[in-house]
Amino acid sequence: MEVHLSTTDLAPVQIRSFDKLYIGGKWVEPSSDAIIESVSPITEEVIATVPAGKAADIDAAVAAARKAFDEGPWPRLSPKERADYLVRIREELAKRVPELVDAFTAEIGAANGASVAFTNNALKMFDDASTLWERFEWVKERSWDNGSGYITYDPVGVVGVIIPWNGPVATAALKMAPALAAGCTVVLKPASEAAAEIMMMAEAFEAAGLPEGVVSIVPAAREDAERLAAHPDVDKITFTGSTAVGKRLMELASDRIARITLELGGKSAAIIADDIPVEDFVPGLAFAGIGHSGQVCAAITRILVPRERQDEIIEALKQVYESVKVGDPREPDTALGPLSSARQRERVLNYIEIGKEEGARVVTGGKAPEHLERGYYVEPTLFADVRPDMRIAQEEIFGPVVVVIPFDSIDEAVEIANGTVYGLSGAVYAKDHDLAVSIANRVRTGQISINGWDMCVTQPFGGFKQSGLGREGNVEGLSAFLEPKLVQGATPPAK
Ligand code: NAD
Repeated sequence: MEVHLSTTDLAPVQIRSFDKLYIGGKWVEPSSDAIIESVSPITEEVIATVPAGKAADIDAAVAAARKAFDEGPWPRLSPKERADYLVRIREELAKRVPELVDAFTAEIGAANGASVAFTNNALKMFDDASTLWERFEWVKERSWDNGSGYITYDPVGVVGVIIPWNGPVATAALKMAPALAAGCTVVLKPASEAAAEIMMMAEAFEAAGLPEGVVSIVPAAREDAERLAAHPDVDKITFTGSTAVGKRLMELASDRIARITLELGGKSAAIIADDIPVEDFVPGLAFAGIGHSGQVCAAITRILVPRERQDEIIEALKQVYESVKVGDPREPDTALGPLSSARQRERVLNYIEIGKEEGARVVTGGKAPEHLERGYYVEPTLFADVRPDMRIAQEEIFGPVVVVIPFDSIDEAVEIANGTVYGLSGAVYAKDHDLAVSIANRVRTGQISINGWDMCVTQPFGGFKQSGLGREGNVEGLSAFLEPKLVQGATPPAK
């Protein structure tokens, strides 16, 4: 279907509807006629539909994955043989990058740059996972006081993958590539907001020719999706999304001690030292908070500044935010597209009101842009006069909202940085390298960058505290899908 997303003459984007589910590697009729509608955040109109999987569909997908794991070839292939399939999946995804980029813009409103970067990240994940067979030590010899043996690594089993909408293909890849590399079979449940794009991704899995049952993709409403997390035949859940849902999934997993990896977002801080000029950090740092309209778990949404430099830094950030073009994400000079949904915009505007009520000052932004009649847009918003204990400084807003908080000493800056329930990302900006490293070492967070910011997904990625549990990416990400097994009284098998 060709969808015209606005009344402008911009090129239409491609997004397709689906009427079947992808179960066990085949396109099958859904068990009911329930559908999920994909609403364009640009036009607020329905642009695609996919079937809404129900209990029977989730059961069928889990049964296919269980059979493929217990009886099929996949877990029994060598890591290298599985890696050859990962290379094929990567090739099939690469062919589809233009349509996946389009779909991401159509369903979520990602501006062109964000859409391309996120989609290409999916290729990076498959590149990373397809070389794990030679980078991971699959057999380790061990000896101890009264014995010897070796450790092997078995795949954990059937994996339920539950993902959000903010980077659908990349998040799916970050979980599925290492799960498949480990020898697990997978049932993926995408977010309803980005389900059509993920069904397009299913076509890449199909074209790669994976053995039957290894991958299933079943969109489902959240109340139906609990069945996947609670299913006795699912050995592991890997989830990205909100902390509230992460806690619920952990509860569901606890009943049968299912393995669980959680990536739950954050309230990451940048600490600015007093020796670094604004022009050296403000342009990059400003976008670390608002890029992809702030809908990034690792976004830097708190900027901690020396009190005496507050005015200068706020003014520099304000200038950047006021120069940013918010608008139709297909226009090449648009930096920020809309938020993903009406619900998300309401949530963000509500937080802005909370901030004002708490006594913080809106330096710029703070509302939907007046020049855009349709679409779920919010202006880049900067708050000053913020105390660390305010809700806008503590809670994940997931919109283009950044707060500036002053400090009087580095000790205080570290205390503020560590003073939320989160710990996912972070940054330190300082000319004095030793000072920067010493600050980075004190911040309790999964990743931290010095004089820059990046979300590095091919190295261990994940959070301290309520930002999550476990790590994704590289050998650490692979390990999350493996069970170590000690074989005593034997030498390692020949390779
Ligand atoms: P969410 O956590 O509610 O949903 C994420 C995924 O979990 C979706 O696929 C959803 O359908 C599924 N889900 C929800 N409840 C479930 C349940 N009980 N059982 C099984 N699956 C379930 O996220 P959201 O509603 O899309 O966004 C709400 C907030 O979450 C955002 O504003 C943001 O703060 C946070 N969030 C964080 C990330 C991140 O990358 N860490 C991503 C998206 C959202």
